[in-house]
Amino acid sequence: MASRTTTKATDRPKVVIVGAGLGGLMLGALLERCDIPYVIVERAAVVKPLGSALTLGSTLIPLLEQLGIAEELYRAGKPWTHYYTYSESRELILSSDFSLAQGLTGYKQYAIGRPALHDILLTQIPSEKVHLGKRVTTINNDGDKVEVKTTDGSSYEGDILIGADGAYSIVRQRMYETLLKKQKLPASDQEELPFSCICLVGQTRPLDPEEFPVLKEPIAQFMSTLGNDNAYSWILITTSYGSICWMVMLHLDKVASRSTYNDKKNRTSENLEWGSHAEAVKAMCDETRHFPLPFGDGSLTMGDMYDRSDQDLISKVMLEEKVFDTWYSGRAVLIGDGSLLIFWEANPANFCLTVPID
Ligand SMILES: Cc1cc2nc3c(=O)[nH]c(=O)nc-3n(C[C@H](O)[C@H](O)[C@H](O)COP(=O)(O)OP(=O)(O)OC[C@H]3O[C@@H](n4cnc5c(N)ncnc54)[C@H](O)[C@@H]3O)c2cc1C
Repeated sequence: MASRTTTKATDRPKVVIVGAGLGGLMLGALLERCDIPYVIVERAAVVKPLGSALTLGSTLIPLLEQLGIAEELYRAGKPWTHYYTYSESRELILSSDFSLAQGLTGYKQYAIGRPALHDILLTQIPSEKVHLGKRVTTINNDGDKVEVKTTDGSSYEGDILIGADGAYSIVRQRMYETLLKKQKLPASDQEELPFSCICLVGQTRPLDPEEFPVLKEPIAQFMSTLGNDNAYSWILITTSYGSICWMVMLHLDKVASRSTYNDKKNRTSENLEWGSHAEAVKAMCDETRHFPLPFGDGSLTMGDMYDRSDQDLISKVMLEEKVFDTWYSGRAVLIGDGSLLIFWEANPANFCLTVPID
């Protein structure tokens, strides 16, 4: 009979994950269950509850079940079934029914604030494995080991490097620089990131349901409004804990998009990365606060949402769309937004890691 050898945790490859966003934490939670050693290196010194909301369904919930944390999603999330689209004059113009998915897959859809989902995943990782305040700048990926160095002089060594560090992934940048020198980077991956949308996102503090009866609905209300000139659209999503998550999107046409992109003033990390940048946030809030909300008596506007949100938790960001052809090299692998940028949704592929077999 064939004997089965077991591998001790100490014999297993050590994984260094750059980025404690949703992708990095999800992978950390999986490695934790598999008893594979890992460390997560995150540049933010504190985890701020930034972001709006995400929706999760049949592609992701089975994974949360396997991790034993689906119940936490059911508690912190709110089931949702319909995506309602309104005109700026508050007429319902489209209702998309997602409840059919439950019949097909057996799973409901849930809406959840990004900070709440981030918190659930963070509780799966022992705190000593998440190193905060560590911005990775240097990566050595050409030997038997990988090593990353951070701006404060720390260094982390491992056998596999995971770039879970978002749209402007430093792991991807360093990987591509090396491949370019070796003339191994495909032309498609040498192009600049295209974007066509500027986005403002946030979440109100928990509100009084008597003042906002829409919060009493047992199903998350997912309401999108299309602006008259098609330049703007804005989305509101109610949560189980009485807040309203919101997003306002400025859709750029191709010409505007390219010229904005080429404008160096707009290419500061302030505008490109998720975060709260007071001046830029205030300007876009001022510009859009008169936008009408589809619920209530007609007097409510986006300004009512902004005024009920913590200002330092509002983010303004440029959103890109791109599928990178190169997503691994040597001992490094890119996951999540580092490898695949799909505009504005919780893409289940963000949470998948496929290991290439040579
Ligand atoms: C603050 C924030 C708010 C967001 N809000 C929304 C939202 O409301 N709705 C939505 O659909 N999507 C939102 N997103 C995007 C969404 O989280 C991602 O599209 C998706 O979850 C993929 O996750 P990711 O882990 O690949 O990337 P991200 O979630 O972007 O995480 C990347 C992580 O890497 C860290 N990092 C980056 N560079 C370095 C470096 N050099 N060294 C160390 N760490 C680094 C970042 O600080 C971040 O924590 C948000 C992302 C962030 C970071």
